[in-house]
Amino acid sequence: MTDYEDQVGFCCEELEEAVSSDPEASLIEHDSGLILLNLGHREEDGETGTVLATIRFCPFCGTEIQTDEDIEAALGAVETHD
Ligand SMILES: [Zn+2]
Repeated sequence: MTDYEDQVGFCCEELEEAVSSDPEASLIEHDSGLILLNLGHREEDGETGTVLATIRFCPFCGTEIQTDEDIEAALGAVETHD
C-alpha cells in the first residue's frame, strides 16, 4: 500500500518533473490542486505581479489533466492577473 493515490495524478513523467510548488517555476502546482502556467512577471501601475494561466491539457502529452469544472471550482483560491 502506498499513499500515491492521494497525490496529484500526473499523466506522464515530463509533467511530473516540470511541475513544482515553487512560485517561480514555469508550471506551478497550486495549493488548490490546480496546475498553473506561469507566464512571468508583469509590471502594472508600479506593481509587479505574476501572470498565471490555467491549463486544461498537459503540454507534453495532451492528456486532459483538469476540466473546466475543476478549474472553476478551484479558481477562487487562485490569484490571477488579467
Ligand atoms: Zn502528460
